[in-house]
Amino acid sequence: MLSVEEARERILAQFSPLPAEDVPLAQALGRVLAADAIAQEQLPPFANSAMDGYAVRAGDTLGASEASPRRLRLAGEVPAGRVYAGTVNAGETVRILTGAPLPDGADAVLQQELTRAGDGWIEFLSEAPTGNNVRAAGDDIAPGALLAAAGMEIGPAEIALLAAAGIHPVRVMRRPRVAILSTGDELAPAGEPLRPGQIRESNGPYLVAAVLRAGGDPVHLGIARDREDDLRAKLSAAQDADLALTSGGVSVGDYDLVKQILEEQGTMNFWRVRMRPGKPLAFGLLGGTPLLGLPGNPVSAAVTFELFGRPAIRRLLGCREVERPTIEVVLEGEDIERADRRHFVRARLESRGGTLIARTTGAQGSHLISSLQGASCLLVIMEGEGVVRQGDMVSALLLNDALPWGNA
Ligand code: AMP
Ligand code: MG
Repeated sequence: MLSVEEARERILAQFSPLPAEDVPLAQALGRVLAADAIAQEQLPPFANSAMDGYAVRAGDTLGASEASPRRLRLAGEVPAGRVYAGTVNAGETVRILTGAPLPDGADAVLQQELTRAGDGWIEFLSEAPTGNNVRAAGDDIAPGALLAAAGMEIGPAEIALLAAAGIHPVRVMRRPRVAILSTGDELAPAGEPLRPGQIRESNGPYLVAAVLRAGGDPVHLGIARDREDDLRAKLSAAQDADLALTSGGVSVGDYDLVKQILEEQGTMNFWRVRMRPGKPLAFGLLGGTPLLGLPGNPVSAAVTFELFGRPAIRRLLGCREVERPTIEVVLEGEDIERADRRHFVRARLESRGGTLIARTTGAQGSHLISSLQGASCLLVIMEGEGVVRQGDMVSALLLNDALPWGNA
């Protein structure tokens, strides 16, 4: 039986980044950059005013105060989007609005609230030192600056940066096509009545959601019955996928046909990993498509997807980091016994007095879908003997990219 590390290595070795494609910026959210995004333009493109007020030569306001205002001639106005045609000469001021280019000659802006307006003149009730309320050209983004590196996921902040720097369309990695097939005679799809002995199929919907979150393009192929012909027929639709995910049918039961098909008609790379939940995990190639045979139990399917499926998708996407972060936290509540298989325990994290505390989400049976809800991490209980007790430090694999309260 393989260790978790060996299994992950063998899986990742089968994947390399997909080709790139161009998408409009408006559709780039959540996509992964295929190349470094380099600013072609500086931001702001020109020095401009941070306030509604008056542009001046700083020297003209020297010594200005409420008690001894400096009176300057109002020479004109420059709103945002326009350029002042003239020059601000000594003894003059120009009304300026937020975002408008600083006129030639001026080197400071005094906000309106510190001025008094009269007929053709403005009184300055305070000094405006050089650079006052002026945003320098390029102070946000210098030309040639690296906006975001290849392999980074585009979030709202990157969208704003790319938009501001005039990058459109954006070169991103193609989303991996991930075929998803659920297996089992007992499974009923949504909307159909439950016949005796049936349960609702939930792994398919779970995996569609999880693949989307991972950046993949899921296709749910439906439910295959526990018959070789049906399984084979449905799997043939996965031929041009970048990855096929099945759930169920990889154990040692009489109806565990995924494993059998992989062995007989494809190449089995490995079967079974020293972990809990998720021991009966199969990986191989079927007709050239990498197939990850996830266990049927919903928690096992979810945990093995997280540990092996998501990194494969992230590798296809050319992500810099294919793994999620692991942090050290303090266990609270029940003790956890070590075993000869690595144990992944669903837990919730919370921050108390500057320390991150983990509590399990309750009973951990691999059929308990409710134990997945609200889990913000998987506690990684290494193989071995003894017990991890309340108060002990334990590694936690985060299930979200960021902690809910920001970086701890
Ligand atoms: P199997 O590995 O096929 O024997 O399945 C193990 C357990 O997981 C059984 O209790 C199945 O009913 C359940 N199971 C398998 N596939 C699904 C699915 N798509 N949705 C919900 N439960 C499933
Ligand atoms: Mg089954």
